[in-house]
Amino acid sequence: MPHEIRTSATCASSEHRGPCAFSVHPALHPYDTRPGDGNELGRLLVHSSHVPTLIHEHTVALFAELSDVAFYLLPAVLRDDVGFLRTNRMGECSLMARELVRIARQSGLEARTSYGLIVSVPFSTTHTWAELRIDGVWMPVDLLLPRALHAWKITTDQVWPERLSPRGLFHRLTATAEPLVAHGDALCRVSFSTGVVS
Ligand SMILES: [Zn+2]
Repeated sequence: MPHEIRTSATCASSEHRGPCAFSVHPALHPYDTRPGDGNELGRLLVHSSHVPTLIHEHTVALFAELSDVAFYLLPAVLRDDVGFLRTNRMGECSLMARELVRIARQSGLEARTSYGLIVSVPFSTTHTWAELRIDGVWMPVDLLLPRALHAWKITTDQVWPERLSPRGLFHRLTATAEPLVAHGDALCRVSFSTGVVS
């Protein structure tokens, strides 16, 4: 099902007067940059024919050392701290993705990190995840997201097991996190309102 993602940004600086000029990361490839409502900068049409796919148990078993790491939003100083992750069994998506890639490569698999969007209505969210190349196809692997959704009772292991690759749900933009909307040195708040188009 095609999704239309509308990128909007607002300036976080109170110093600016007049209109602010934002630049959108080329990875967002806005297919329609006509001015939209309010702060809309462009629209991206995401049409994935991929469907979530189960990854083989033997492959997921490679990541056993991360099987009890839980998702927590961490202070910036701890976000990239592998020692903290190992000792406290808590992590955020980007470090967990790097750890998955490290372990996969040690096991001889082709692996990479990805940064992009979890495509969902009414808002898509930025996210970092790992991908494994299996039978020539890049498959997202994300152990933390289902784990968090299970812990919050949003879904169950039957509906979304950890070895389910969320293909079609994640939209890759870049290899690692980058600002998707830039506005000089000033911070800006970005949102990705998302709807289904027929
Ligand atoms: Zn501004």
